[in-house]
Amino acid sequence: MDHFIYQNGQLHAEDVALRDIAASVGTPFYCYSTATLTRHYQLLTDALDPLPHLVCFAVKANSNVAVLKVLGDLGAGMDVVSGGEYMRARAAGVPGERIVFSGVGKTLDEMRLALGGGIRQFNIESEPEMEALSFVASEMGIEAPIALRVNPDVDARTHEKIATGRKEDKFGLPIAQARDIYARAATLPGLRIVGVDMHTGSQLTDLAPFEAAYTKLADLTRALRADGHSIDRLDLGGGLGIPYTRSNETPPLPSDYGAMVQRVLGDLGCEIEIEPGRLICGNAGVMVSQVIWRKTGGAREFLILDAAMNDLLRPAMYDAHHDIVPVTESAPGEPQALVDIVGPVCESGDTFARQRAMPLLQSGDLVAFRSAGAYGAVMASEYNSRPLIPEVLVRGDQFAVIRARPGYDEMLARDTIPTWMQTQEA
Ligand SMILES: *Cc1c(COP(=O)(O)O)cnc(C)c1O
Repeated sequence: MDHFIYQNGQLHAEDVALRDIAASVGTPFYCYSTATLTRHYQLLTDALDPLPHLVCFAVKANSNVAVLKVLGDLGAGMDVVSGGEYMRARAAGVPGERIVFSGVGKTLDEMRLALGGGIRQFNIESEPEMEALSFVASEMGIEAPIALRVNPDVDARTHEKIATGRKEDKFGLPIAQARDIYARAATLPGLRIVGVDMHTGSQLTDLAPFEAAYTKLADLTRALRADGHSIDRLDLGGGLGIPYTRSNETPPLPSDYGAMVQRVLGDLGCEIEIEPGRLICGNAGVMVSQVIWRKTGGAREFLILDAAMNDLLRPAMYDAHHDIVPVTESAPGEPQALVDIVGPVCESGDTFARQRAMPLLQSGDLVAFRSAGAYGAVMASEYNSRPLIPEVLVRGDQFAVIRARPGYDEMLARDTIPTWMQTQEA
C-alpha cells in the first residue's frame, strides 16, 4: 500500500497534488511520501517484534539525507556500502552504533572513517579484507566488531544483475569454509566477532530462497558456537521484493517473512538484523515527467518524455517494469493507444516501455512512474549533460525540495580547463 492516489481526478502524494509540485519545481522530479516510508518501516519492525532486532535501511536504495532522517528518527539503523553512505547516515543523525558497513570492497580509508566515527559492525566479505581491518583497527588501538558474510549458495531466481547468493557470485565467503575463516578471525588482533551476515539477492518474490538460506545460517551458527565463538547477531540482509505492477504480483507479506524468521532462527536467541532497501522505499516514491512530444506516423507511436534513462536507469539496466500513469486521471472508457514511452537520450536503450496502452496524451501532459523510490535517484547520472533531477518529500499537505535541481552553471563549474590552455592567446 502507498499514499499515491487520485483525489478529484488528480494524482496526489498524500494530500499534495503532483501537478502543484510540478508547477513549483518543474519536471522531471522524484517525489517521496513520508507516510509510506513510515508505514513500510513500521510493518517490518512489527513483523520481527517478538525477537530482539534492528531494521537497518539499505542506504544504497535511496540515500537522500532527508529520507534517511525520516527512517532514522523512527529508530531505524542503516546499512551502508561506502564512506559516502556512512557520511550520509551520520548527516541524517543516525549514530554509529546503528550503522552496519557492508560491501565487497571496503578501502582502508573507509575502514578508518567508520572506526573513527563509530560503527555497529563490519560485514566482512573476504580474508584480505579481514586482515586489513585487523591491521587498521590495531593501528587505531580499537576493536572492530565483525560479522563474516557467508554466501549461502542458493539461487534466488531473480534478475541476473541482482542475484548475489549463488557460489558463482562475487559476494561473501563460501559457507563451507566459514568455520575455518572464523577460527582465523578469532586469532587476529583488533577484531571482535559479533555475528554472521548473509544477503540472498534482491527483489525476491518468494520466501523459499530466504528460508533455504536461513536454515543454512542456523546450522552454521550452532557449529560456530560449538567452536567457541560468541555469535550474538544474525544479519539476514535485504531483498524482500515489492509489487511493480498493480495486477499480478504478490510478493510475501512482511508478517509472513517475520513468522518464517522466528520459526527458522528464533530459538537461537540472537539479535536479528535485516537490511531492507526496496521494500521500504520502492513504493514510497514516484518520478513525475512531462510529455515533450507525441510522435506518430511511423511504424510505432512514441511518447517522448523529458525524463530519460539517466534519471531512472532501471528499465535500461534490469529490463524493469514501472507502471506509468497519467497525473490527470483518465475518464472511464477514454480511448487509449499502444505507445512506446521513451526519453530524449541518444540511445535506443532509453526506452521506458514498449507498446504500453496509454490515454492519448499530448505535449505538456504529466505522467508518473510508480515504484520509483528505490534505485531511482541514487542511480541517476548526468549522461547527455542532463542535470540531476530534483527530489521532493511530502508529509501530509506539505512538500519540500530535498535536493534541488542544479543549474547549468553548477554543472559546468565542476569542469576545469588546465592552465596550459588558459594561458594561450585568444
Ligand atoms: C542491495 C543490498 C541490500 C538491499 O537490498 P534490497 O533488495 O533493496 O532490500 C541489503 N544488503 C546488502 C548487502 C545489499 O547488497
